[in-house]
Amino acid sequence: MYERERKELIDKLSQKGIWDQAVLKAIGKVERHKFLSKAFHNHAYKDIALPIGYGQSISQPYTVAFMTQELHLKPNSKVLEIGTGSGYQAAILVHMKMQVYSIERNIDLYLKTRNLFDSINLRVHSKYGDGTIGWAEYSPYDGIIVTAGSPSVPEPLKKQIAIGGKLVIPVGNKNSQKLKILTKLEEDVFDERDEPEFSFVPLIGREGWNTK
Ligand code: SAH
Repeated sequence: MYERERKELIDKLSQKGIWDQAVLKAIGKVERHKFLSKAFHNHAYKDIALPIGYGQSISQPYTVAFMTQELHLKPNSKVLEIGTGSGYQAAILVHMKMQVYSIERNIDLYLKTRNLFDSINLRVHSKYGDGTIGWAEYSPYDGIIVTAGSPSVPEPLKKQIAIGGKLVIPVGNKNSQKLKILTKLEEDVFDERDEPEFSFVPLIGREGWNTK
């Protein structure tokens, strides 16, 4: 179902500058409509963010593709996602053959998406909790992707990246953020660059926005 729409979507993303074939292939395979309620199925393959309930949203496919591409992952890498949401970003990573760990702070979304992962047989290690403190137990990660906007880069996440690994995180105010791409060169030493201009829902937690 929707195969033609997915093909059109990957054509559009490559026109917009996405070059990573593994990312494009995953977007061509993952059925984004399954991560949305029925009311949005007809819009699932448009390059737009869509509501997933609880005031949250599934990111625009271009944003998913861009952030994933910026992680520069080799197959079988270990990746931590903060903000499981609908599960779509996690599914893209699984289809790229990554070992995926994902944290969600909204209990209802966590449970709903956990059930979806089980029902479509998607192997994601998911956890309910505050992702701003990371998931130390399985660290270090080759890549950490934060899919909500933060006022600053949470220190625990910097600690949990492997040497040579990357952290991609939107940092800014509540309306607009720059995407920060950090590469860990050695312990406590990072290369850092910014990509304008993105808009994510807020990252709420101990090392994120502390208010609701
Ligand atoms: N990656 C998701 C995007 C979901 S939107 C997808 O593909 O659909 C961002 C998600 O981050 C929301 O579900 C929100 O509840 C969650 N979130 C916000 N702050 C968080 C935190 N501190 N830890 C974990 N999840 C958080």
